[in-house]
Amino acid sequence: MPDPRGPGPHSRLPSTYDLRELLQRLRRSDPLESIPGLSLTKPVLDEEHEIIQRFDVTVEQRPDRERLPCALCSNNKPKFLHGFVLWSGDGWLRIIGSCCGPKYFGVHYHEMTRRMAKRFSNERAENYLWENLPKIAGVIAKTKLLSDRCLMCDERMKKIREDAPEAVKSIVANANENDGRLCVVHKISGAGPRMKTTAGGSDFQTMTIAPLRGEKALKDKKPLNTYRKNILLILAKLPSISNDDELLEVITDLSTDPQKLRNYADAVMGAFKKVDDLHGRISEAESFFSRENMIGIMKWSDDLESHAGFDLKIQGKSVVIKSNNETCVVKMLS
Ligand SMILES: [Zn+2]
Repeated sequence: MPDPRGPGPHSRLPSTYDLRELLQRLRRSDPLESIPGLSLTKPVLDEEHEIIQRFDVTVEQRPDRERLPCALCSNNKPKFLHGFVLWSGDGWLRIIGSCCGPKYFGVHYHEMTRRMAKRFSNERAENYLWENLPKIAGVIAKTKLLSDRCLMCDERMKKIREDAPEAVKSIVANANENDGRLCVVHKISGAGPRMKTTAGGSDFQTMTIAPLRGEKALKDKKPLNTYRKNILLILAKLPSISNDDELLEVITDLSTDPQKLRNYADAVMGAFKKVDDLHGRISEAESFFSRENMIGIMKWSDDLESHAGFDLKIQGKSVVIKSNNETCVVKMLS
């Protein structure tokens, strides 16, 4: 039965704004009859339809704790809490229970929900671009400024890898064995009760001397500055936006091709993620060369004595690592 009021106000799919308004009113438990654009009549089935929004309400939100009627099956009797907003070619929106979509629309139901998912992902992609395209220029500028920090870490990493390979090997091996902590194994000696160990009664006890900072940076052989340069190449391919007109132009152009729009949003998101990742890598490398970390390594290597395979001392702002008659001097970063 078509709506006796004639064609409804939505000759096309409602805007996100209208849809949000409708959902708010449903949850606010406004009387259904008072909601503009909503019809409580059963739609003509062979007309054009789109499922446009999934929604849930709770009985607590409804007046007299009653459910919502389904336009397809319940003839205005309360029926469901989980359902969809349906748009129909007669210009009206209707609410239907979640079971009735497949029952009444059959194979078209799946096409409609697929289209709904696509519309949402287009909308999300577009919103993301509105918000993030204007940030690209700033992200490029900040990434360029990371050059000094990258080079400072890279230079130090290169130096200890080349001039103190025994130390690097020993630290990495220990961290691998002990979940990233610097540990030593002590033989329990002397009389008295034997200390219980995790191994359950052995003569040895593993002691943590210090946490190891910057373990990942020590293991990763790719220079930070190479990461940084690659990211700048990726960022340079994204549009640079300097004002709202340009933003509008780029998004209007992308909106004509939803696939392209989504790809763009993914590309921007991916590039930004790489920048975050670079920040993480830099902090990791800097923490390795921090005074605190070097003190930890020094205590640990002192405790191991000759087993460490190297000797590390702190002299002023530098660490001096000696192994195999070679001496490596590296300035700490904090
Ligand atoms: Zn129903």
